[in-house]
Amino acid sequence: MISESLKSTLLHYKDLSASFCFLTGAGVSAESGIRTFRGEDGYWTIGSDVYTPQEIATHKLFSQFPEKCWEWYLLRFFKCKGAEPNAGHFSLEQIERTLNDNFSLVTQNIDGLHLKAGSSDKRTFQIHGNINKMRCSEECCLDLFNLPNEVSLIEETKSFSSIAHLLKCPECGAMSRPHVLWFDEYYTEEHYRSESALNSAFRSDVLVVAGTTLLTSLPAHIVEYFANTHKTIIGIDIERNTLAKYADRSHRGEFILAKSSEALSEISKILSDYRIPET
Ligand SMILES: [Zn+2]
Repeated sequence: MISESLKSTLLHYKDLSASFCFLTGAGVSAESGIRTFRGEDGYWTIGSDVYTPQEIATHKLFSQFPEKCWEWYLLRFFKCKGAEPNAGHFSLEQIERTLNDNFSLVTQNIDGLHLKAGSSDKRTFQIHGNINKMRCSEECCLDLFNLPNEVSLIEETKSFSSIAHLLKCPECGAMSRPHVLWFDEYYTEEHYRSESALNSAFRSDVLVVAGTTLLTSLPAHIVEYFANTHKTIIGIDIERNTLAKYADRSHRGEFILAKSSEALSEISKILSDYRIPET
């Protein structure tokens, strides 16, 4: 699946003790049963009886109808909570242990599966948030709180009022909000570590992009930076997408037409005896 030329490129960077940034999207979680948001039957295509997902996942709707917004997120929360990491997630955890500080992971996924697989908080940038967390909607603090397990009661009662008290900010008592970036919001460092994510990507020698069509701006910005600075881009997806062109044109880059789990596990094996440079 990985061509001889790509293998020699990876060995070349391994000999140089180069740094790698991995960028992951919905395709990586799809193998864990989390539907890709924009695919047929994806979350972004199923809204409520009145609103489309693009309308629900906004600060505007939350400020008007927080309960509708929360209900929709809670349904997704239960789906993500039941999902387990797949071989792609575990390969990335293995690669991080091998590369240490020469590794960073920028993910568009909000399901938290990279952390569940053991990837570190420090080197994992969840730029769109994490659905397992909530934070104060009034911004009284920057703390993130775990969604209480008792919110599952809504599955039986179908009534938001039965669980509304569980979604209060533990600090000030205001309504909390899902810790996710909405369509009408911008990336911020304090909530999403977006500047840190960009900086660690820009410092890297090689970019490996798995399972995303780059529809969101920060990941697209990272890929364009690598293209413009003639660095290596390796793309992985089950179909050729816009990323394939970037990968093919980049310095020593290539596109791998494969499942993320299979390609990442191959990459993990090739990098396995990587030596961390002495400082
Ligand atoms: Zn608060």
